[in-house]
This record gives sequence, C-alpha cells and structure tokens, in this order.
Amino acid sequence: MIFKSINPFSRAIIAEHEVLTNAQLNQKLKLSESAFKNWRNASFQERADKMKKLANILRVNKEELGLLITNEMGKILSEGISEVEKSAGNCDFYAENAEKMLKDQQYDTPFRSLSVYDPMGAVFAIMPWNYPFWQVLRYAAPAIMAGNVTLLKHAPNVIGCAKAIESAFLEAGFPEGVFQQITIDITQVESVIASDIVCGVTLTGSEMAGSSVASLAGKHIKKSVMELGGSDAFIVLNDANLEKAATIATQSRMLNAGQACICAKRFIVTEKVADEFAGLLAQKINALQQGNPLKSGINMGPLARLDLAEKLSRQLEKSLQQGAKLVVGGVREDCNFQPTLIDFVDSNNIAFQEEIFGPLATLIRAKDENDAVAIANNHRYGLASAIWTEDRENAYRLARKIEAGNVFINALVRSDSRIPFGGIKKSGYGRELSDIGIKEFMNMKSIIIE
Ligand code: NDP
Repeated sequence: MIFKSINPFSRAIIAEHEVLTNAQLNQKLKLSESAFKNWRNASFQERADKMKKLANILRVNKEELGLLITNEMGKILSEGISEVEKSAGNCDFYAENAEKMLKDQQYDTPFRSLSVYDPMGAVFAIMPWNYPFWQVLRYAAPAIMAGNVTLLKHAPNVIGCAKAIESAFLEAGFPEGVFQQITIDITQVESVIASDIVCGVTLTGSEMAGSSVASLAGKHIKKSVMELGGSDAFIVLNDANLEKAATIATQSRMLNAGQACICAKRFIVTEKVADEFAGLLAQKINALQQGNPLKSGINMGPLARLDLAEKLSRQLEKSLQQGAKLVVGGVREDCNFQPTLIDFVDSNNIAFQEEIFGPLATLIRAKDENDAVAIANNHRYGLASAIWTEDRENAYRLARKIEAGNVFINALVRSDSRIPFGGIKKSGYGRELSDIGIKEFMNMKSIIIE
C-alpha cells in the first residue's frame, strides 16, 4: 500500500510513501522498547542539550521545512516558516523547564512522603495535516524531555514532514528509536495501542477519529489525550473596539485557510453593533487574496485536500438553503475556496452545528450579552472562545460562564507553550503544553518513608 502526497495547489503528486508491513512495524516497536530502556535514564541535561540542538536545526532549516509544509498541505510559505519557528520555541521551552516541572513534590505528613514523576514508555501520537510540525513538536518535546520515547502516525498527506522531523531528531543526536515516524494505515493502529511498550495515545483530529482511538485506548487500558474539533465562539459586545475585533476576527477565522481547531468559527455579535461589525468583517475578508501559496501578497492558499474543499462547499450550500445569507465570497475551484462570510445564521443551521474547517465565517446575532453566552455554550464543542468588550471586569465574569478550555479577552486565540491547552465536551480531554501537558504520560509515583 502506498500513500500519495499531492500538492493541493498544483494537484501534482509530489511523493509516494510505502506503508509499513506488520513485520516492519513490529521491528519499530521493538526499537522503541530498547530505546526507552536507555532514554529513561538519560539526565535532564543530556536531554536538554539534544532538544536545544533540535530547536537550532529547525531554525536553521526553517525556509526549506516551511516549503515542504506548503507543498504538502498548501498553507502560505510565511505561515509554514512561522510554524517551524514556533515548534523550535517549544523545544527550547521544554529543554529549559522540564526538570523544574518534574521535580519531586513533598507532602505535609508526620512521616516523609513525596511524589516523583517516572516516564512510562512510548507515547503513540496520531496527528493531522493542518499544522504538520507544530502538532508534532507540541506533544513530542515534552514527552521526550520527560524520558519517554514516541511513535508518530502522521496524516498520509504530510508523511514528508513526518520524515523530515524524524531526520531532525537524529541529526540532533537523539538515539535511534527515541522519535520514530511510522507510516501506517488506520487498520494497524490497534496493534500499536495494544503493544506493551506503548503507555498512552495522544490524538489531534476529528471527533470521529478521536472517538474511535479513545475506544481502543480504553479497551487496552491506556491513558489518552484527545484534542479534537472545535466551533469556537467569538463574542462581540456593544462596547467592543469593533475595528480591532474585526481585524482579529478575520485573522482568527482565515489563518491557515481556516483549517485550525482554534479558528474562530461562530461570530456571535450583539444586535446593536451587528450591522456595523458585519460591514467591517466583510470589508476585511473581501480584501484577502487567495491563490498560489508560494507567491508574495497572497494571504491564503488552497485547502489541504480536494475532499475537504468539497465538504466545505456542501456545508456552505446547505447553510444557504437553511436561510443563511451570503455576504462575501462563496466560489470554489478545486482546492481553492474564496474567503467567505455568511450572515443571519441560527443554531439550527449546519454552519452553526458542524465544525467548519475552511475560510468560511459565520455571523450569528444575539439579543444581549447573556444571550451571546447562551448561544456560545449551546454547542457540542468546547475548545476555546473569545470575548470582545472594553469592560474587562465584565469580560472576566462572562469568561467564567463560558464552557470551553480556553477563553481569550480582546485577543487572538492561540496556543502558547507556557499555558495549558485543550478542550471539554466533544472537543476532547486532557491538556497539552505547560507543566500540565508534560505530566499527562507520566507515572506520578507516591513514596512514603516511615
Ligand atoms: P481525521 O481526524 O480523520 O485525521 C486526523 C488524523 O487521525 C490522521 O492521522 C488520520 O489518519 C487519523 N485517523 C482518522 N481516523 C482514524 C481512526 N479511525 N483510527 C485511527 N486514526 C484515525 O481528519 P481528516 O483529515 O479526515 O479531516 C476531516 C475533518 O476533521 C476536518 O474537516 C475537520 O473538521 C476535522 N479535523 C480537525 C482537526 C483539528 O485540529 N481539530 C485536525 C484535522 C481534522 P488517516 O488520514 O490515515 O485516516
């Protein structure tokens, strides 16, 4: 079996990757096992030195790696390069902080008692194509600094990125088997989860993929972290700075051609300012240039795969049939989807209910701030949210009522190595990044000494 990597803009086949046989996969699992025996005992200093080298290799090669990302999944080159830089930053962050994050914790008891953090084995990662470097380094840098090893099953259209990341780990001096990319089909996923060396599974992707993999993890009693879909609310209240809100709204929806879990997907605006905000948003979306992701002046490339672009067209069509009004855009040619805005969407509309993974902004009108929060919470997903208002105290009060893993006030929703990241409801469970993320796949072992 072969995976084909197709450039979504030119539609040319740029590489073919052979899927591992089960025998080859078993060899990789054995290599993980032997690598873990040594790596778990490596000092933090040794791990950090190599992790810093990896960060440096990523930075030195950022143009070439950014181009690989663009060719495989279509994001504009500057976004590909920034993604590689952000990934390098995460390697530095964990190189510098892992040891203090994992220091022993003493308890206040009449006898001596403490918790220590032990690595547990191989973290199995199933990752998507939308941030083919960032999603990988986001989980891999903490896992490896903690003394675990890892196996990566990347999405079939970004296997070139997976191989480039593996090469960078080896070049940085990590022993063979500490980071392995495995080109496998989903029928081989269960055998990896079942393997004794695998201590847990982390998945970023759709709700359907998450449900299937979380069931397998449950069956084999393995810890799992699920970072799934989102339909993030972007709430704009009467006293918001509308110009700034519309600028960030455009960025938050259209970044990466709208293909991010934390893209703002539902713009919930109070009635009093809805027309003005809609006008500003339409203007800014209209000004975006969609086209060849390698050309300067282009703000947005194609969607990553033809089937994803076709799905978005179907969602738009149905949404308009259900009463939404097309304001800007709406045209698609192959993987190229015009930046689009629809207005007058309600909670029964497909654009409200499903995850919209592309450059399609959805405007929903709310009576007042309480109605806006109720609309935001009336959803199966709970990844992140944004609130725009000049009254920060009120914004904090409202933020406490929002059902989501992250709430940003007057700011672009983004992930940050220092801050826990993850969702609730059907957006998944567990946290990545910060000191919380590094502890997800560790044995917090209590030791009591009398
Ligand atoms: P998927 O969730 O299907 O793919 C993400 C990863 O999960 C890939 O490596 C995929 O591998 C793997 N996967 C999928 N199904 C299974 C399974 N049953 N068992 C094990 N692994 C599995 O996303 P798609 O690429 O198909 O995109 C479909 C939709 O998912 C998008 O339109 C978007 O709504 C959502 N999505 C959300 C993401 C997010 O960050 N929230 C990221 C990507 C997608 P393989 O391709 O080999 O099946």
